[in-house]
Amino acid sequence: MKRKKKRRYIKNQLLSKRMIMFIIIIVIIIFIYQISANKSQESDSVSAFSSINEIMDEIETVTYANVNRYIVYGTHFNLEGDMEIHEDNKIQSAEVVAKTASGKEVHIDTEYTYENNQLSFSTLKEINTGLDLESLNVEDYYILLKVQFSNNKTKYYSLSNNTEYGDIEYYTLTRKDTNNRINIDFTTIDNMPILGFHITRVKELPEEVYDVVIDPGHGGSDVGAVEGRHMESEIALDCALELKTQLESIGLKVLITRDGTESEEEYTMYNIYDEDGRVTLANESHAKVLISLHLNSNLSDNVDGGVEIYASSNSDLTLAKKLADDIVETAKTEYSTNQTDKVEDGVYVSTIELEDYTNETSFSRSTYKGIFDSIPYLYIIREIGGIATGAYVDGTNKAYGVNEYRNSNVGIEGYLVELGYINVDKDLDNILENGNLYAQAITNSIANFYGIK
Ligand SMILES: [Zn+2]
Repeated sequence: MKRKKKRRYIKNQLLSKRMIMFIIIIVIIIFIYQISANKSQESDSVSAFSSINEIMDEIETVTYANVNRYIVYGTHFNLEGDMEIHEDNKIQSAEVVAKTASGKEVHIDTEYTYENNQLSFSTLKEINTGLDLESLNVEDYYILLKVQFSNNKTKYYSLSNNTEYGDIEYYTLTRKDTNNRINIDFTTIDNMPILGFHITRVKELPEEVYDVVIDPGHGGSDVGAVEGRHMESEIALDCALELKTQLESIGLKVLITRDGTESEEEYTMYNIYDEDGRVTLANESHAKVLISLHLNSNLSDNVDGGVEIYASSNSDLTLAKKLADDIVETAKTEYSTNQTDKVEDGVYVSTIELEDYTNETSFSRSTYKGIFDSIPYLYIIREIGGIATGAYVDGTNKAYGVNEYRNSNVGIEGYLVELGYINVDKDLDNILENGNLYAQAITNSIANFYGIK
């Protein structure tokens, strides 16, 4: 009896050992399968421009156009360039297009001039319109210059990189938990330069890539505007934290430039370009949009409170107007009566004028001579947009540090929201009581404008 029992015991033990081995083998098989599945996905994404041959036949092979500037600002791509064209036939039209192997052609609004055989073209009239990167399908696109001549002939020219800038990796905004990665590459095929967009779907954003940045104005020892015991830095932070929660609830990945845990000195005007400074944090985020929250204070007696949205100059103001309209409607406030820099109800564009030069000593007068009125005055809009917005803080003014991203050709689309006036009672009361409604309005604006639900 005893023996039998022992044998059975051994047998059971052997069985369970086999069982464990079996499970281990299954786990290993699943593991190997996963790896090979990932690998095949990877190899799919590195086989860039497989469809190039199908489109090469249509492209002129002897000449090509030069790209002298290309920019991603917010969610849009734009470029400008030129080429020599010697043709007996007159040029009827010239435009930049994004073409797919399947025959799709996306038109990009293009301005051009043709003089002395030199064709110059630009899609950069507004920095936040042009080729909408969010609207592209998961396939390869080729950016070409399409020229139509008076004999009804159409020619496509490929584009060559005539800049010091390299390839761009762009991630679309998170929609239904997915993103597209867009590799914007200048490459050469059979000695022909070509600008291609290779698009793949990704399951998750890389750790360092965000959709939106929220920037609560001021902070640390810089409290901003003050009314009694109320400080702009604290009210802006409360509203910003609420906005972060709401944007995350619609699936967006949000970076906040401060959350109230910073040291006293961390957020003064003088270290915003440091490693942990708001300009650096924003620039490193790869985000598409930045919302900076502030409260105004009265500059003149005839301003009776209300909301003001500041946007970059040379930009389409549709989203700025939407933010203003949604805040007025949802938070039951009003458009500001401030007339300075006003473009539309609630929408403002503030630019650097020549007289500001004396205050901004890091300007090089020769570099910026004549273009002052096209550079956004507000640093948070200007310094996160790279070359699209004229970012310039280069360390010449020792008090301000260096914006390492000032020459970037990838910029974040920035909006500064003045929620209301801290020293106008109806504004202050409304913001303190209904800060969540301001956050809700901004969330709705972004969700509707970018088609995120
Ligand atoms: Zn402020």
